[in-house]
Amino acid sequence: MNYIFDIDGTLTPSRLPIDPEFSVFFKQWIKHKDVYLVTGSDKEKTIEQIGINIWENVNKVYQSCGNQIWQKGQLIRESSFSLNDNVKHELQNFLNNSKWLEKFGNHFEQRVGLVNFSTIGRNCTQKKREEYYIWDTQNKEREKICQYIMKHFPDIEAAIGGQISIDIYEKGKNKAQVLDEIAGEISFFGDKMDEGGNDYPIAKRLQFENRPHTLFKVKNPIETWDILKKI
Ligand SMILES: [Mg+2]
Repeated sequence: MNYIFDIDGTLTPSRLPIDPEFSVFFKQWIKHKDVYLVTGSDKEKTIEQIGINIWENVNKVYQSCGNQIWQKGQLIRESSFSLNDNVKHELQNFLNNSKWLEKFGNHFEQRVGLVNFSTIGRNCTQKKREEYYIWDTQNKEREKICQYIMKHFPDIEAAIGGQISIDIYEKGKNKAQVLDEIAGEISFFGDKMDEGGNDYPIAKRLQFENRPHTLFKVKNPIETWDILKKI
């Protein structure tokens, strides 16, 4: 069995470190199992969240939605992507015209193989991040931006990730690309498996390919922990 885990919202609260007790449990749990982690974040943020021990002891870690692959601390492969001027211009318009008025800077973040975009800006406080998330759940700003970008730029894919941002990358270079190199039965844990979420491509492809799999759609890390106690 191959176990694939999303990180934000699945193993850790979004952008925050893993619960210390869950960390101790998870370090034991991964021993003698085939475990893969897949996240939109970069290596530095992931290590900050889950610690170097877990990061180095799973089979592979797919950073940037699988656009950068690490195995036991070694870089295996990475792909590149940057926004063209037309897409950037449209996103800038969304930023200028957003009904969420408080802006905190760091709206475009270049990562390996993708660009992360946020109208509130990644420099916001944790409190503002949570306020934006609730506002966005009601107003669906991020969903609308994703739909607009994909409609007007067919070679680009955009997906909601975390609480405040969207990930933008070349079509197909989403989390589902990790399935290219993991053979056999899969158990996948994620908190954003609904359409538009960044775990959706994995869930959709597993169903489409008809390969043996189980999807664990979790609400938070506590739910993940509860499920793992029974495996
Ligand atoms: Mg998540």
